[in-house]
Amino acid sequence: MKNQKRIFLSEKDIPTQWYNIVADMPEKPLPILNPKTKESVTVDDLAVIFNRACSEQELNQTDAFIDIPEEVRELYKYFRPTPLVRAYGLEKALDTPAHIYFKNESVSPIGSHKLNTALAQAYYCKQEGVTNVTTETGAGQWGAALAYAARAFDLELAVYMVKLSYHQKPYRRSIMQTYGAQVIASPSMSTRAGKDIITAHPNHQGSLGTAVSEAIELALMTPNCKYALGSVLNHVALHQTVIGLEAEKQMEIAGEYPDIVIGCFGGGSNFSGIAFPFLRHNFKNGHKTRFIAAEPASCPKLTKGVFKYDFADEAGYSPLLPMYTLGHNFTPANIHVGGLRYHGAGTIVSKFLQDGVVEGMDIKQLETFEAATLFARVEGIVPAPESSHAIAATIREALRAKEEGVSKTILFNLSGHGLLDMAAYDLYIAGDLVDYELPAEEVRKSMEE
Ligand SMILES: *Cc1c(COP(=O)(O)O)cnc(C)c1O
Repeated sequence: MKNQKRIFLSEKDIPTQWYNIVADMPEKPLPILNPKTKESVTVDDLAVIFNRACSEQELNQTDAFIDIPEEVRELYKYFRPTPLVRAYGLEKALDTPAHIYFKNESVSPIGSHKLNTALAQAYYCKQEGVTNVTTETGAGQWGAALAYAARAFDLELAVYMVKLSYHQKPYRRSIMQTYGAQVIASPSMSTRAGKDIITAHPNHQGSLGTAVSEAIELALMTPNCKYALGSVLNHVALHQTVIGLEAEKQMEIAGEYPDIVIGCFGGGSNFSGIAFPFLRHNFKNGHKTRFIAAEPASCPKLTKGVFKYDFADEAGYSPLLPMYTLGHNFTPANIHVGGLRYHGAGTIVSKFLQDGVVEGMDIKQLETFEAATLFARVEGIVPAPESSHAIAATIREALRAKEEGVSKTILFNLSGHGLLDMAAYDLYIAGDLVDYELPAEEVRKSMEE
């Protein structure tokens, strides 16, 4: 069809397997370490905190494709396959020769890509006889996703929500509570990790790192309870590959192949999800697609971080991950993109960044809101402030294509909608949002702590 706006697949096209890129990596990432022994972690080590199936997937370096359980595919049907959209409106507004496509993950019931892994993790917990699940949430997207998934598989869920977001985003809290989850503002007095931080900094507004620590601590203290993480880890990236696998088929229908693939970057899951299935063709079929991970200039682990072993959480309960990090003690500025306020990058993306296979791009807050506003006006969807980083990066690349007079095909992931982020839009509209760029010496300081 000519000028097709949205490209749909049918339910039977929902992928039957996730793509595990580690199996195809010419050089594997460094191992994840047990912080006590400094040896590579085993499935048994990970299974203390996480469900066993995900622990196995985390360390799987041999199977390029891993079956998606039928029960999970059944629940994917509530929102998958998601549409691939040609951004004609944006192309016209930019007057660019570039062809811009986006994968619309905002159509899920909770409004973001996070349900792709939440459903898988909840399913495996149920299979293994787990009754209680804990997690943390920043903007509330992950908490909402896991609350939905816990309800679908009849699990009790306790969510530690970063205090700043708890107050800035009360409706995400109500969504979690609507699905039946218990929500606690973090830092809280319910864990040792929380108490320590409140004692040292009574007005601490929380960070994802702290909330992770609290959730892991509760999981370790509660019988039959596992912790679930919504980003950073390999198994989370694995589950998100349904995004790219569907997009691959949809781009084929459109008769195009992306020159550039773009995702916003918190811990790396939505970026990995859209990028890895295409990255495989760089490895296997000599494609030269560029992959751009767009991060906030206030939390720039990819562009200003240091590659080293670090904890995924502030208190140091997690295994040690080889990653680009700003230091696990890093507290990001109070910017309005909760989902990107995280100190480290997943190990696979970190390895790709080291090898020059993917690029980091840091973007200041005001540019992302400008991009978001334009996108809303010409494409109709109010994007999540996180996703707006991908839109801003796309606009930069589309304008560059125009300057160079070349037609590029750009694919980005619209990781979520922003309808519950209007408080941040309000500040932007009122002219009260300011730019903040993390100075390089701040990074050095936080690494030394
Ligand atoms: C959580 C979230 C992100 C960031 O997390 P990643 O793991 O890096 O994908 C981005 N966009 C939205 C809408 C989110 O909810």
